[in-house]
Amino acid sequence: HIPVICIDGPTASGKGTLASRVADRLGYHYLDSGALYRIAALAARNAGLELTAQRESEIAAVAATLPVRFAADRVLLDGQDVTDAIRTEEAGMNASRVSALPAVRTALVELQRGFRQLPGLVADGRDMGTVIFPGAALKVYLTASAAQRADRRQRQLSAKGIATTIDVLRADLEARDARDSQRAVAPLKAAQDALLLDNSEQSIEESVDQVLRWWEE
Ligand code: C5P
Repeated sequence: HIPVICIDGPTASGKGTLASRVADRLGYHYLDSGALYRIAALAARNAGLELTAQRESEIAAVAATLPVRFAADRVLLDGQDVTDAIRTEEAGMNASRVSALPAVRTALVELQRGFRQLPGLVADGRDMGTVIFPGAALKVYLTASAAQRADRRQRQLSAKGIATTIDVLRADLEARDARDSQRAVAPLKAAQDALLLDNSEQSIEESVDQVLRWWEE
């Protein structure tokens, strides 16, 4: 039996940082499921597809055979380094578009479950606890206020030399959350057995320690 910890939550709640640090502390593997949707959207665009429901089966076919490799801290798509290309706000919005298509979600299920390997996995996303790993031993639903999330995203971007305004970022993440929460399949929501963690007033270290305490209980 291979243990899984799921960390789900809205855009820019800090899931990625929290999940990868918890994985480091436990020596577990880490799955950034959002990256797979970002890569699927990019691959579909590269194949000349519009990201609409009319193209659902073609986008799903692309997603089902993604030539993706995670090498150290780089992401390769068909041998090309797409690490930065998938991190833009536009790539996030495109990921949100393809992720609302049921056939695309189905196409990515096995790829995601394949990350569950010894000694264990920490997975972050929107439906890790509800759909992909429903039997996970620990499920965390991470939230923070929209204002906090926009502020953190702005600091991340400005560290990379990208200037944006808080208002634009906040509108973007609220639009993405709205689409993610309202879609018909695997909408963003806490699993019934998830523990809620609001990190608005917490440092990353405090959140990591909280999750590790829950894990040890
Ligand atoms: O987490 P991240 O911002 O990278 O995710 C990008 C988009 O991919 C999300 O807005 C969401 O629409 C989608 N996603 C999803 N299910 C997941 C992870 C991400 O639908 N498990």
